[in-house]
Amino acid sequence: MDHIPLADGARQPALSIPLVVKSASDYPYGHGEDDFISFPEHHLRELRLIHPELGPEDALLSLAQSWLYFGTLTEFFQQPISSNTLTRLNHSGDRFICTSALHEIRSLWIASLPPRPVGGAGFRRRVGRRCGVLLARATWAYEHFQGMVTEDPRARLVMFSIKVMLCSLCHTARVVLCPTPTLDTVLARLSFRPAPVDDSTATDFLLWDYMVQNGWCPYQMNHLATLHSATSMIYLASIPRMKRNIGHENCLRAGCCKASQIDWAAFESLHVAVGCTCEHVLVDEQQIMAKLEDGQIPLLSCMRSTSGDFSIEVIQADIHTVFGTPTFYYAVSHVRLLQYDQKSFQGGRPILFIVLRMGRWSWESIG
Ligand SMILES: [Zn+2]
Ligand SMILES: [Zn+2]
Repeated sequence: MDHIPLADGARQPALSIPLVVKSASDYPYGHGEDDFISFPEHHLRELRLIHPELGPEDALLSLAQSWLYFGTLTEFFQQPISSNTLTRLNHSGDRFICTSALHEIRSLWIASLPPRPVGGAGFRRRVGRRCGVLLARATWAYEHFQGMVTEDPRARLVMFSIKVMLCSLCHTARVVLCPTPTLDTVLARLSFRPAPVDDSTATDFLLWDYMVQNGWCPYQMNHLATLHSATSMIYLASIPRMKRNIGHENCLRAGCCKASQIDWAAFESLHVAVGCTCEHVLVDEQQIMAKLEDGQIPLLSCMRSTSGDFSIEVIQADIHTVFGTPTFYYAVSHVRLLQYDQKSFQGGRPILFIVLRMGRWSWESIG
């Protein structure tokens, strides 16, 4: 995961992916020896020979990492990749996955491709198709492995790292080679699973707690996971969010972000005068939409009669009156009352609204 950029100044997530490959060779996936499809058979035969004591869980993890992690990388970049290249030792002498060397592997691979303008486009398309098939196969196998791995914490880490790697390679293929429908489909299948309402540990997005600690709302995280690829989610997770007075503890269960909603049960209107019984001002949304559909700019005209009755009406903005000179482009962002106290609208006072005029934001006032 070290190859994925994080937000500026973000602390690294504390996630260590163990090396679980049990192969005798430093190259978990022998380049040019096996083809991708028949690798599992050869790997499991090798494990039975050199590690007859190995349980099915360890054998399955070794196969997943050798095949779908190192194997996909080897076939993608068409070069042998040793376990030492993509691992590091921790202080206890255990090996963990470290992908910082991937930048160089990727750069060398890009440099080896023929440039686009001199007949390289067709070559890149062919390589793109090959990589698309490879990643589709790896993703298909990944999904089957997901159904087989148990609750072993190492399994969750290994599967997480494979998903992130496959997603990274998909993005690389789309950008460097060419986007294809196959790559788009694979990317969509490599999204993280949203968390169920009652169990945030059931998602395969292992940076869930890290993202929550950075101030994100779990409900919004679930929504983002359906929109963004696995690697984008890791970047998003590293962005610190503004803390709010209300926490996000209940958002997932509530089905909305409670911190950005008005709690109507506790909401109380404030009035200028004690004992005032005036009601909320409502605008007919349909009238506003009708004006917009007719190509007009809807404005709200607020009037208070001498008897004190308050009325609000949707009117059409006269563009020449507003801007003086003809203007070609208008984009009204939103209509906004600056003061909610009804007193400020007495006698149909000006209403302020934000308008994008010839590419410049400005406040305009209408009489
Ligand atoms: Zn929330
Ligand atoms: Zn009032």
